[in-house]
Amino acid sequence: MVLGYRVETFVIRTRFAPSPTGPLHLGHAYSAITAHDFARVQGGEFLLRIEDIDQSRARPVWEAQILDDLHWLGLTWHGPVLRQSERLTTYSEAIEILNAAGLLYCCTCTRRDIAQAVSAPQEGVLTHSCPDSTVYPGTCRSSDETIKRIEGAPLRLNMALALNGRSSVSFMELISLQSLPKININNTKYIIDKIGDIVILRKNEEAAYHLAVVVDDAAQDITHVVRGDDLKLATPIHAVLQQLLGLPTPTYMHHPLIRDETGKRLAKRDDAKAISKFRAEGATPAGIRAMIGL
Ligand code: GLU
Repeated sequence: MVLGYRVETFVIRTRFAPSPTGPLHLGHAYSAITAHDFARVQGGEFLLRIEDIDQSRARPVWEAQILDDLHWLGLTWHGPVLRQSERLTTYSEAIEILNAAGLLYCCTCTRRDIAQAVSAPQEGVLTHSCPDSTVYPGTCRSSDETIKRIEGAPLRLNMALALNGRSSVSFMELISLQSLPKININNTKYIIDKIGDIVILRKNEEAAYHLAVVVDDAAQDITHVVRGDDLKLATPIHAVLQQLLGLPTPTYMHHPLIRDETGKRLAKRDDAKAISKFRAEGATPAGIRAMIGL
């Protein structure tokens, strides 16, 4: 309190949000340490979230190993760990908001249906692939039968409707943690054509990653999302969802991926780069930082 006024301070809050589907490797360590140190240097808070929404792949043993490795690296986090598997009701509420706004439609296509539609283009239907998956060709969007909800079938976001004639979607981005934020502007035509109608509710009623991550970043009051370049394409989607759900859009920083000796990005199965393996070989936390240039 200064002269009776409460001085509101802006607290920087970052997070690390691993999926417990494999060991923590050098790439994860880079994200976690960068987000942690950024918050610490700014007098802010670093939070931890376990993204275990995909119960078919998440394993408690990986979560335990991840927490142990993070402690060993010397990282500490603010408050309790948030687990996505405990937040399903919150995700359902967010999905209901989008559904009530008429922005979702039920999709009964199988992977094979989508592959076939993409390889046999119809006039007016976009058929191309984004870097990691096929852009949905819109088959169910135009079918009257799929207007009604079919239990267990995925729900997709009608991206064109969601963007509602807007020309761009933007968010603030830090190119490096030392630089000032700049605006990253995304043309909505690009989002509709190259990203398309993403799944919001996966089959068997599981919320999709994109939905869960924006709901959770808001719930944890995250001001700065620090994550790898592999998620850069997802950020415009997150900005769209934040706007539709009335959630704040954090500032993003996408860092270059840590690659192996051959230039290939590290994957969960790259046990050779697992922190636990380096630990077993006698590495120190400072040694890990040195390996990844931090
Ligand atoms: N759970 C994601 C992963 O482990 C990270 C998601 C994010 O940082 O937004 O790759």
